[in-house]
Amino acid sequence: MFDKILIANRGEIALRVIRACREMGIQSVAVHSEADADAMHVRMADEAVCIGPNSSAQSYLNFPAIIAACEITGAQAIHPGYGFLSENAAFVQIVEDHDLTFIGPSAEHIRQMGDKITAKETAEKLGIPVVPGSKGGVPDVAAAKKAAADMGYPVIIKATAGGGGRGMKVALNEEELEVAFRTARSESKAAFGNDEVYMEKYLQKPRHIEVQVFGDGQGGGVHLGERDCSLQRRHQKVFEEAPGPSISPEERAHIGGICAKAIGEMGYRGAGTIEFLYEDGEFYFIEMNTRLQVEHPVTEAIFRQDLVREQIRVAAGEKLSFTQDDLLLDGHAIEVRINAEKLPNFTPCPGKITQYHAPGGLGVRMDSALYDGYTIPPYYDSLIGKLIVHGRDRPEALARLNRALGELIVDGVDTTIPLFHALLQEEDVLTGNYNIHWLEKWLETHL
Ligand code: ADP
Repeated sequence: MFDKILIANRGEIALRVIRACREMGIQSVAVHSEADADAMHVRMADEAVCIGPNSSAQSYLNFPAIIAACEITGAQAIHPGYGFLSENAAFVQIVEDHDLTFIGPSAEHIRQMGDKITAKETAEKLGIPVVPGSKGGVPDVAAAKKAAADMGYPVIIKATAGGGGRGMKVALNEEELEVAFRTARSESKAAFGNDEVYMEKYLQKPRHIEVQVFGDGQGGGVHLGERDCSLQRRHQKVFEEAPGPSISPEERAHIGGICAKAIGEMGYRGAGTIEFLYEDGEFYFIEMNTRLQVEHPVTEAIFRQDLVREQIRVAAGEKLSFTQDDLLLDGHAIEVRINAEKLPNFTPCPGKITQYHAPGGLGVRMDSALYDGYTIPPYYDSLIGKLIVHGRDRPEALARLNRALGELIVDGVDTTIPLFHALLQEEDVLTGNYNIHWLEKWLETHL
């Protein structure tokens, strides 16, 4: 096992990894930008190294500074958290070239899944059902028209290098196609430096269902059920739950089994998430994320497992501490993302926290790097906390969420807390009757 791990991240996820390290008896090294000198992850780690100025490009994405920090501190492995360098194959290669361990999959698997066309082809070969769409990239408007005519409207044009919901455009009919195609391409070019796009049938009322998987890197794979992350704004998740309220035990075993088998066949190492759209009882693969996800705690809650601990174990060459048969689903968990944003427009709202009080009690987990007097810097994303609740069933989890939200105090900046108070008044949220468009439609007439 490693003696010392460097965490190449900040905020709540850096704390999450430090906590796992401490419980495993592993020393932790925090890295930070100048703006984050007083951040909680710097205070909580055993050691801390400043790796550059405020901008992410010069700090949390700064390869040489991060590698140097490992060398100075003697850290043997790097946990990337999510975002930043977590899915950067070039970084993983450099980490390995320095005889350090990247806590995550191989550079090759990251590359394979980072290119969405290759990812879809790989998924299809492994027996995972995919969304009907173009065969590979679509080079021009004529090819786009042909592909759309073949699959039928509406269609969605997506960036091959996509992520974070950018570079996606819907065309309801042939008249809309040309503009949608050109816009998707120019957005992709601007966001990812790559203008290759592909096309899919646009599903009209799907739910977003994702399967948590784990590979041991030696041909073994397991699944830890699904999460329903359908409540989204601009393709960004805001409320996640496990298990999915619309997924039966039979469906879970079926799709989970397909995913676990695929992960084993790939020889995949570590945590991963296979994302699907789910409509009329069918699953359609959209992408795979080769990292720990923001919403992993809902899965941890219902399976009573520590996914970061498992990531570290597998990276160190140890076995997973559970088999598929050990994984028994217990109860229901919900996570809400607390962002420092001003409603109704979700404008980022950095600033000083004058008072912070985390909720507690049975079945409540608050993952946050906030503290009284902390100043949220304007340079990074606006997620400031995740409130996760666990109950014996969905109604109990909802009641607990309502109770915990009532205890949570974040003063000094605007947050998304009022959004969740409002959502918990909605019949559709209470009954789990929503798809990926529900929240956008609701936001048009509420708040
Ligand atoms: P990204 O990597 O940018 O997040 P994804 O492929 O994961 O892109 O898609 C993000 C979201 O976009 C999905 O959760 C869903 O809401 C919507 N979406 C993607 N593909 C389709 C599709 N074929 N039909 C309908 N909605 C889609």
